[in-house]
Parts: sequence; C-alpha cells; structure tokens
Amino acid sequence: MITRMSSLFLRTLRENPADAELPSHKLLVRAGYVRRVAPGGYSWLPLGMRVLRNIERVVREEMDAIGGQEIQFPALLPREPYEATGRWTEYGPNIFRLKDRKGADYLLGPTHEELFALTVKGEYSSYRDFPVILYQVQTKYRDEERPRAGILRTREFVMKDSYSFDLDDDGLERSYQLHRQAYIKLFDRLKLDYVIVSAMSGSMGGSGSEEFLAESEFGEDTFVRCVESGFAANVEAVTTPAPPAEPIEDKPQAQVHHTPNTPTIETLVDFLNGAGLGRTFSAADTLKNVMVKIREPSEKDWTLLGVGVPGDREVDMKRLEAGLYPTEVALLDDADFAANPFLVKGYIGPQALRDNGVRYLVDPRIVTGTVWATGADKVDHHVVDLVCGRDFTPDGTIEAAEVREGDPSPDGVGTLVAARGIEVGHIFQLGRKFTDAFEVDALGPDSKPIRITMGSYGVGVSRLVASIAEQHHDELGLVWPREVAPADVHVVIAGKDESVRDGAEKLAAGLDAAGIEVLLDDRQSSPGVKFADAELVGVPTILVVGRGLANGVVEVKDRASGERTEVAVDDAVGHLVKLIRG
Ligand code: ATP
Ligand code: MG
Repeated sequence: MITRMSSLFLRTLRENPADAELPSHKLLVRAGYVRRVAPGGYSWLPLGMRVLRNIERVVREEMDAIGGQEIQFPALLPREPYEATGRWTEYGPNIFRLKDRKGADYLLGPTHEELFALTVKGEYSSYRDFPVILYQVQTKYRDEERPRAGILRTREFVMKDSYSFDLDDDGLERSYQLHRQAYIKLFDRLKLDYVIVSAMSGSMGGSGSEEFLAESEFGEDTFVRCVESGFAANVEAVTTPAPPAEPIEDKPQAQVHHTPNTPTIETLVDFLNGAGLGRTFSAADTLKNVMVKIREPSEKDWTLLGVGVPGDREVDMKRLEAGLYPTEVALLDDADFAANPFLVKGYIGPQALRDNGVRYLVDPRIVTGTVWATGADKVDHHVVDLVCGRDFTPDGTIEAAEVREGDPSPDGVGTLVAARGIEVGHIFQLGRKFTDAFEVDALGPDSKPIRITMGSYGVGVSRLVASIAEQHHDELGLVWPREVAPADVHVVIAGKDESVRDGAEKLAAGLDAAGIEVLLDDRQSSPGVKFADAELVGVPTILVVGRGLANGVVEVKDRASGERTEVAVDDAVGHLVKLIRG
C-alpha cells in the first residue's frame, strides 16, 4: 500500500507538549501518533494505529503458535462474578463502577479472570476437554491514581490477557512455560531490551509469577539483580536472608537512658556515641519501630501494627503492602496517635506494643540474641542492650525494609544492584482461586470431579508502543524496529521538478507491487521540512528521490545509523526488497 502524506491525517508538531517528560511521550505526540483526550485517555491517530496493530499482530501470532484461541468479552460487565470472588471490593478505587438505568451495578473490566473461568465452566465438563488456553486483545479500564507518561499508564488501555486451564499442577507448569517462551519470542521480535524478574503475584494471590520489564531509567518498577548469579527480582519479591540466632546468656542487661532531644535515628546515634557507653553505635544498631494501621478488605475498622526494622533502613511501603496483601495498609495520622497515647512519637519501643496488645512484625535480620538500642516509650528516653528473644519477642517477620544495592542476593551468590524497568508483561500461576469460587470442575476418567487450575498472563499492548519508543529513538525522533514500524519505506520527494516527482511515483509503485508498505511524502513542502518529518516519524528506511535522479541514482538512508547509500534507480526496488525482507 502507498500512503500519501499529502492526504494522511497527520500534523507533526515542532514543540514538545507541555505535560510531557519522557522522550516517548514527547515524540509520540510530536510525530502525530497519539493525542490526549483526558487524564489517562488518549486517541490513536493513523500512524499510531498502525504501530498498535502491528504489535497486536505479533502478539496474536505468538499466542496462536502456542495453541491459544482468541475470544472476546465485553468490557462492560455485571457486578455478580466479581462479587463472587471478592474483587468487586478488593480492587478498591482502581475499578470503574457504574449503574445502568435500572440501578443494577456494572463495572468496566480491569482484567477478566472471572469471565474466563465462568465461560470454561459453561462449555467444558470432561477431563478430555483440557488443557485449553484462551485469550483476548481487549480494552481494559482502571481508575489509576496517577495516569502517567502519555500512553504508558492510562485509564483505558489495550491488554492481551490469556488464561490457561489445566487438570493438575504439572499441566499448569507446562502452560506457564509455553507462555514464558511465547513472551520471550514476542518481545525479541519487538526488539525490546527486557529482563524477566520474579514477582509477587499482586492482587491475584498465586505462586509462580514473573514479570517482563523493559529496561528504562523512567520505569516505575525498581528491580534488583545479581551480576554473579543472574538472579533478578522485583523489589517486592526480594527476601532477606536471616543471620543465625545468637546466644542470649552473654548479653548485658538492658538499661534505660535519658537521651534528651533524640527523636530521630541520627540524633540518637550521636547521643549514644557521646554518652561514654564504652562502644560505638551506628544506625544499624538501632531498632526503628514504624507504626501503621491495617484493615482486612471486608472490614471497616483499622487495627494497629508495629513494624520493626534496623535503623539504617527505611520502611518501603510497596514491600510492606505486598507482604500484607490483600490487607490494606496506611500510615498513622495525628488522630491515631492521639487515640493511642501509649505511642510516644520518636520513642516507640516493643515494650509498649506488647503491653497494649499491638501486633509487632520485624525485619528478618532481627533474630534471637541480637542486641538493639530503641525507644523506651517515654519522651527523651531510649533503652540500650535490648535483646531479641529475651526482652522482646516479635509476633513474626515481615519483608518491609528497603532493599539496597550491595545487599546480599537471596540465592546466596554475590550482591544486588538496582535498575528500573517498565512492566510490559506478567505471567503467573494463579492456581484455584477463581475455579474454587465458581466450582470449575472436569469429570475425571473415574467420574470424580477434578478442580481445574488456572494461569493468567498479560501483555500491555498499548503500553508497548511507548516502551518500544522509549528504547528506540534519538534526538531527531522515533526509530522503529521493522516489525512495528508504520511503514517499510518512507519515500521523500526532494524536489519540485516533474521528473523527480514522476521518478518517485514510479519507485513507490514498484515497491508497492513488491508488497512493500510505502509512506510517500508527496507534499508541496520544502525538502528540509520533509527530511525533519521523516526523522521524526521514524520509519526505519528512508528513500530520497532528488537531484541525483538526473544521474540515475537515489539515496537510501538508514534511520537508525544515519548511513546513506547511493543506489542506481533501476536497482532501487530490488535493493529495498532485499533490505526489508532480509
Ligand atoms: P502496573 O504495576 O504497571 O500497574 P499491573 O501489575 O497492574 O501493572 P497487570 O494487572 O499484570 O498489571 O496487567 C498486565 C499488563 O497490562 C501489565 O504488565 C502492563 O503491561 C499492562 N498495564 C497494566 N496497567 C496498565 C495501565 N494503566 N496502562 C497501560 N498498561 C497497563
Ligand atoms: Mg496496576
């Protein structure tokens, strides 16, 4: 097909949009791929549609290759199935809920586990029917708190979601591995630089779970990896190795000290080091107790929870939330402190928590026999030589402390380094949460029911447009990988002469006849404007038809490297076909 720029619905912009920070956001708007309509709502213009469709095509091809079958559900869904699994409530404010004219509750689907499980239950009943993989490429809705970075995080977006249904755990593992391989193939085809990290399974509560993160300094997901062992994980999934317990008997008795004006770890450490206690203290010798309140999804009331971490580390709320999920967590406000006067801000210790029946969870490094300086539950007072397992006994451990570069890798080999990425895919072994809720069974060979086990797998199709743009651009514009580019060749008519125009038209027709997608800049604009637009739009190969034509040559420019090659007009089509088809 030949697309003529003279009639293409496209206006490129010279200026970056005021609200854009990320290169992909700036460029996709400037090059006329997308336009903002609402917070987290974008329309796709013709060039953007092409890239989106290309990504969808690659995703469908790889899903079909593992035996996936495409179906499609409505986005507008009744409340009942989501009520049955508890997600109507659990999803919290992230779900768009609405009512129809009769007052019945509906939602706009954020993900479709319920519908797939119910549909399989409706159609299939024998063990002979399984396994099965179903998928859809569909618009999802989430009332994201912070829509961000153009199409990277929107409230309406395109996702490929697939679901596997198996008779047993081995089957689920096979379906999971099939998806993992399919994702590797598709992200490789999209020329994405990505890492596969082990992940918590978020709102789903499953076991095996991995995320595909496109590497990007602007990514919202921090992950860590170990160069020595290849271990990579979401920060939420990093576990802290516990040191061995220490003997208690040889530890000195705990003493309370008057420590005026020491509400922070820093002031406390300074004070202790100036107090002549016969040893030096560091922040890691102090025990910081952070108070939060928690609430079960079905409850109205909050309860207090104390979280103890070594004083040289902050509490990472994302890790804490992941560790407590689906229980909700919030920091205490002034009213909470006022209602619980035993909590002395800046001087909270495990003693008051125990005496007042507050649950107390600690970092795995806080093991029996370790010695701490911590709050004495009285203004300007701390207790030193408080021994875990002797002077206080936590109710359990929690992964809440921040993970830092240089921390030991959980697999015991080497240390961790941190990096950032954009989540483009997520695979996980969901298990029986949804099939239990709807009693999805198959009748086995012995006529006994077998509870089906599920996997759930997502790809952020529209987010991929931005993720690829993020990794494939330069200061002049976008530089699309071939598989997703809006055209194969961008033909620039660089001259006003009739002969130049005719020559370019002939070449475009020849390319089209050979099955090459051509974007033909046949506008009346100056060559400078056309070149700038070609760089901005980012088709991987640019064919310049200009003055050289009189001498029988045209110029082929590689958008990524900037390399130019002169080619004889008569060889141009053959040359380009070879270049593009490989
Ligand atoms: P995130 O942590 O980025 O919010 P998620 O864990 O909520 O993602 P999933 O529920 O696993 O995401 O959804 C599957 C895929 O859909 C994600 O891997 C991501 O690529 C994409 N996705 C999720 N939320 C959005 C959004 N608001 N805008 C665009 N794509 C999204
Ligand atoms: Mg999300």
